[in-house]
Amino acid sequence: MFKRIKDINVTLSRWYLSMTERCEICGNIIRGSADAIQIDGGLFRVCSLCSKLGKSVKIPQKPPSPRLMISKSEPINRTYEENEVELRRDFNKAIKSAREKKGISQEEMGKRINEKISVIRHLETGTLKPTDILSRKIERFLTIQLLIPEET
Ligand SMILES: [Zn+2]
Repeated sequence: MFKRIKDINVTLSRWYLSMTERCEICGNIIRGSADAIQIDGGLFRVCSLCSKLGKSVKIPQKPPSPRLMISKSEPINRTYEENEVELRRDFNKAIKSAREKKGISQEEMGKRINEKISVIRHLETGTLKPTDILSRKIERFLTIQLLIPEET
């Protein structure tokens, strides 16, 4: 009897885990149902806070990968191993101009991607290099490319 109850709990927690979804912009766990928005042609499944950043759209059954939708001029099969990428040299300018194009402040961007405003400021002056994880977060948020295939 006791064992059976335990089994049910395991099943429930597995079910819960499969239901949790992370916001593709800020990375926070989405409580309730995800909102789908469109930014510069890319589709993002986001939390309610980030849903204000773009045009809201109906959630499709299978969301297309935002990576493939960043720019039409880039080849679709742009696949490479994680460890073969490097941070582009003008990352600070790229972040700054993309953020300004979006019309949001450093403070606002910091809030959206869960980073301190000082981090954003240092990134834009180039005194701080983003980690791969932070780069990915910024790439998704600003729909720009920061990590480029390493030159050989
Ligand atoms: Zn979010």
